[in-house]
Amino acid sequence: MFKTVGVVGIGQMGSGIAHVFAQNGCRVVAYDPSPAQAAKGLAGIAQNLERQAKKGVVFDAGIDEILARITVASSLDEFGTCELIVEAATENEPLKLELFRTLDGIAPEHAILASNTSSISITRIAAATARPDRVIGMHFMNPVPVMTLVEVIRGIATSEETFQAVAEAVAFLGKEMATSKDYPGFIVNRILIPMINEAAFALYEGIASAEDIDRGMKLGTNQPMGPLQLADFIGLDTVLAIGNVLYDGFKDPKYRPCPLLVQMVDAGYLGRKSGQGFYRY
Ligand code: NAD
Repeated sequence: MFKTVGVVGIGQMGSGIAHVFAQNGCRVVAYDPSPAQAAKGLAGIAQNLERQAKKGVVFDAGIDEILARITVASSLDEFGTCELIVEAATENEPLKLELFRTLDGIAPEHAILASNTSSISITRIAAATARPDRVIGMHFMNPVPVMTLVEVIRGIATSEETFQAVAEAVAFLGKEMATSKDYPGFIVNRILIPMINEAAFALYEGIASAEDIDRGMKLGTNQPMGPLQLADFIGLDTVLAIGNVLYDGFKDPKYRPCPLLVQMVDAGYLGRKSGQGFYRY
């Protein structure tokens, strides 16, 4: 198994990814250009480990020892010993392409470069490197320590060896894998985002209230929360951005974003994080 894992970006997802690798005994080198974000990410990991311990999760070592497995790097130049690097920086294509170009020049030749992107093509990211066979998507779900699924996305050039090594890493973390080809939205967002968009259309067309739409889907299909509430949790800007990736990627009008969703994002109604979405917070 990978002894040293690099994590790029120590935000919401990167801190969770660093957490689960360190919890399972790997050395983690993590980097974020914002020292404040890195400090916040590390504090979050400590808090989440404490929370897990209180819930009865048993670790192979004390919390301090697990935290000591994580080194915050001052630059990507410190990623030279990583056998696997998981990139979890901001969802921005030019930024990710530049990061992969840089990582390709720093990481050992045999190292695997993975991206946690929710929507950017793994094939395009891989093409920015000289090792497209060793580039793959590892799409963790939020919050990483809690959610079991990792979507593994094979770019057009991803080798079988790379895929098998990542499949082993997913199992090593105690997680389950769903394998997807590299098309817009992969599996989960391809199906989830149109469902949320359809719920927004039902509201837009005045078919039912937000409460009734959510109650219908929650109790009628046994989901933990309704699609509009879930959209508020994800962030309506994120939902719209992924919706646009589906629409642009497939050029199929069935993915057209609901005008109400577009209008709400224009108004700054982004869901829970802004205090107003389909519900008020
Ligand atoms: P976030 O904003 O919490 O974290 C992104 C981090 O990247 C920030 O700390 C930022 O400082 C850092 N960053 C910016 N530029 C960087 C650079 N050049 N090098 C290294 N780090 C840089 O965002 P997040 O929610 O953690 O999302 C990160 C990635 O994970 C995105 O690709 C996103 O699509 C994906 N993702 C997010 C979720 C989710 O629910 N939030 C779920 C699955 C996947």
